Amino acid sequence: MEYKKETRSVEGGWPMEHWQWKQESIALIAKTREAFKDHKLLGLKCPGCGLVYFPPKPYCKCLSYPDEWVEVKDTGTITTYTFTGAWAYEGIKEEEGPAGEPLIICGVNFDGSDTLTVCTLGDAQPEEVFVGMRVKLKWPEKIEGRLDDIAHVVPLKE
Ligand SMILES: [Zn+2]
Repeated sequence: MEYKKETRSVEGGWPMEHWQWKQESIALIAKTREAFKDHKLLGLKCPGCGLVYFPPKPYCKCLSYPDEWVEVKDTGTITTYTFTGAWAYEGIKEEEGPAGEPLIICGVNFDGSDTLTVCTLGDAQPEEVFVGMRVKLKWPEKIEGRLDDIAHVVPLKE
C-alpha cells in the first residue's frame, strides 16, 4: 500500500467547549487518579449492560451512562501486546543505530473490568509474553495520582 505524503487543511472552527463528553471524562479520570493514592483502581459500571469501564468512561456502547463506582483489582490478564525497538527487525545494520532495549507494550484487562488499559510490561523478555499472561500492577514508590501510576505491570507469580 502506498500512502500519500500530502497534508490537507479544513477550513472552520473546532469549538472545544462543545465537547461535553471530554470534560466529563476528565472529571471521571480525576476521581480515579485520586484513588491511586490509596492503591485503589476505580472503574464505572454500566446499569444497562453491566460492563465495567476502567479507566472510567461517561457513556457506554449500549448508550447508557455508567454511574456505579466499582473497585477493580490490580491484577489482570494480557489480551494483546506488541514490542518496540530496532532489535525486533532482522537484518538491521549497525549504522542504523543501536538496537536499544525492547519495550513491551500490552493491553491489560484488570480483574473486575471489561476494558483494556495500555501498560508496559517489565521483568519479562519479549519471547516470554503471551495473550492470557497474568500480570500485576507495579505501583511506583511515590504515587502522585497520575495515569503514569498505573502504567507498568510485571508478571504475576501465582
Ligand atoms: Zn452498557
